[in-house]
Amino acid sequence: HVSRPGEVEKKRKDLPIIMMEQEIMEAINEQSTVIICGETGCGKTTQVPQFLYEAGFGSKHSVVRNGVIGVTQPRRVAVLATARRVAFELGLHLGKEVGFQVRHDKRIGDDCSIKFMTDGILLREVQTDILLKRYSVIILDEAHERSVNTDILIGMLSRVIRLRQNKYEQQQKMVLSGQTLSPENMIFPLKLVLMSATLRVEDFISERRLFHDPPPVINVPTRQFEVKVHFSKRTETVDYVGQAYKKVMSIHKRLPPGGILVFVTGQREVEYLCQKLRKASMELIANTAKGRVGNEVPVMSEMVSIEGVNMKDINEAFETQLTDQQTERFGSHDEDVPDSVEDESDVTYDSGSESEVEIVGDEVDIEDSKTSENDVVGVLGEKSSLASLKSAFEALAGENASECKSKGNQIPSLPEDCPEQSKYSMEKKTVGDKGPFTSSLRVMPLYAMLPAVAQLRVFDEVKEGERLVVVATNVAETSLTIPGITYVVDTGREKVKNYNPSNGMEAYEVQWISKASADQRKGRAGRTGPGHCYRLYSSAVYNNILPDFSCAEISKVPVDSIVLVLKSMHIDKVEKFPFPTPPEAAALVEAERCLKTLEALDNTGRLTSLGKAMACYPMSPRHSRMLLTVIQVTRKMKNHDIANLVLGYAVATAAALSMSNPFLKHFEGSHTDSNGSEQDGRSSSLGSNKILDKQEKIKNKKLRETAKLSRARFSNSTSDTLTVAYALHCFELSKSPVEFCHENALHLKTMEEMSKLRKQLLQLVFNHHGHEFERGFSWTLGTMEDVEQAWRDFVQ
Ligand code: ADP
Ligand code: MG
Repeated sequence: HVSRPGEVEKKRKDLPIIMMEQEIMEAINEQSTVIICGETGCGKTTQVPQFLYEAGFGSKHSVVRNGVIGVTQPRRVAVLATARRVAFELGLHLGKEVGFQVRHDKRIGDDCSIKFMTDGILLREVQTDILLKRYSVIILDEAHERSVNTDILIGMLSRVIRLRQNKYEQQQKMVLSGQTLSPENMIFPLKLVLMSATLRVEDFISERRLFHDPPPVINVPTRQFEVKVHFSKRTETVDYVGQAYKKVMSIHKRLPPGGILVFVTGQREVEYLCQKLRKASMELIANTAKGRVGNEVPVMSEMVSIEGVNMKDINEAFETQLTDQQTERFGSHDEDVPDSVEDESDVTYDSGSESEVEIVGDEVDIEDSKTSENDVVGVLGEKSSLASLKSAFEALAGENASECKSKGNQIPSLPEDCPEQSKYSMEKKTVGDKGPFTSSLRVMPLYAMLPAVAQLRVFDEVKEGERLVVVATNVAETSLTIPGITYVVDTGREKVKNYNPSNGMEAYEVQWISKASADQRKGRAGRTGPGHCYRLYSSAVYNNILPDFSCAEISKVPVDSIVLVLKSMHIDKVEKFPFPTPPEAAALVEAERCLKTLEALDNTGRLTSLGKAMACYPMSPRHSRMLLTVIQVTRKMKNHDIANLVLGYAVATAAALSMSNPFLKHFEGSHTDSNGSEQDGRSSSLGSNKILDKQEKIKNKKLRETAKLSRARFSNSTSDTLTVAYALHCFELSKSPVEFCHENALHLKTMEEMSKLRKQLLQLVFNHHGHEFERGFSWTLGTMEDVEQAWRDFVQ
């Protein structure tokens, strides 16, 4: 009963997971929990929901399976992209049979069969319906990412499955004893499918507290083409974005067609690099047209003429070549990809700190140093032990080709068709119309805070003669498979939110990725044919500094939100909860202490009614407590105007506290791209790139001035957060939000998200407490004049 478009039928045949349909469905029929592992791109996310759909799950005609097929993703980016894709593949409508829901956005019909959502959304749903009665099957996707929400869901669902089974058995007994049940009240067992891009799932299987019987693991064999790894000889600790730029340009000029995927750490770097590459591409074409890049111009001089970049350095900096087999020695291919870098969870686990500290590189500047010692010191920083330093030296010393050989680490000879081999002959090649030279770059950014429409554009067809370059954060590591990628440029870094338990602060830090992540990134190059992965760091760094796996997010975040959520679901003994990776006992104790101070828990650790109310808000417990305190105070106020104002500001403030600071500090390559969509940068500090050009410096200066004026305009001398809250208020009253943000140096998407959150919070306050207010409370903060007047009155 499914009719797929012809092109889809053809494409599906090539997906490795299609061969496994029968095995997968048999396992799901027989077991309550099934684990499916398969490399990114093998078809898990798009195909498994379709297998289930075709087997009658989510169908109104089935009694046993009529519940919705629920699919969770840790990232919002993937929710919309895959929902749209699956609807298209099944020839169905998005928003009807196939729907999606993320925070502040949903398109879903009443007769929905497949629902894509973030893990945060499902977690909220379990809070209100512990049996998840709407669903017949739940797929938790990207389980290897170990996001906090997914981890908690795994623990929760292991129990939900048992509850549903028990209920079902009770019902069967009732039916056998002659009682009749209406079909609407019938409950059937729930199926759970965990999907992972890696085989590193022993946490789930071996954790006996989770599943009585270890669930079966179905491994989808993938045809992964060979990807050649090229390590840098030296490791640039500071300007790795500059290195990435050079590498992309040299690939573009020398190597055969094929998309390039570049991994950097955050939005600002993405936008910066995109702009730089677009400019270079335009200049390249202009020069070609002018004939300056005429016949028989060697690549080398061409490169120098464009950006003043010394290509010799780059050529030297590369390449110790290692084949897959050889890199295998250095690290297993199993892995555990860490949490999302950009904060986009739908349930907030935030300590409330606003600071976005970014540490890029190290103090030691080794840029011009040729000695490997500095390299290692610079990279290791202070924390490293002497032993690891020593082994790093040894490995680094053994890194050049001759030593590699003497250690029996043969440098492989290049295969016939290897593009690297032809690079020398290509340098002097006549530049023809179809050579890689003249083609333009189609540069696409990809990061979590990018507007959804712009995100989807990486899937657009690439025109002939164009080369796709996707500059991405680790969103592209496993969540999205971009077609046609042949080259991966990996800076080896990621931006991670780290929590410091000693001061309760969270900070964004740029740090080395894990070996597992590096290998995952590498794999992106080998989906459609043999590929190349350029690692902008040395093999010594890879071997000695990169950790094997990154740790589960849950061990890095404050757990007060988690404890509150669990307690609100009547899980009193949180330490007994079957976490795939339990948080440290000390962290749980600290969380209980914090929640007791906030009066969310009583002295015995039981949830209070205040705590119950706090758990309803999608914010950190501190912020929801603040809001509830204001509600208690304002509802007794005699002056309703002031009460409304204070409450209105409390809501705006809570929204402001939950997001990062929207005031832009740097110019970040804002531009209007060919579709006219604005892509502003956001406040963060790149701080490392020395190649900021003059133009950008001027823009930065102007932006700083604008930002200063803007802050002054909204300034509240008592509180930075009230400053943001007031800016939010003015944003909402402005005629054109885009212009408003531009004029006031504010980050558009952050402001939009903040505004949506404010409305969501108002709705929640209204639903829970509306009746407590004699005259109700107003939905807006009033006009600008009202607010200013009332504000003055209030402050007096
Ligand atoms: P997995 O979940 O195993 O990583 P997916 O199901 O996401 O794999 O992807 C399977 C294939 O479908 C890939 O080849 C990918 O390129 C393609 N694909 C996935 N999403 C889209 C999309 N939105 N548009 C076009 N192609 C897509
Ligand atoms: Mg997937």
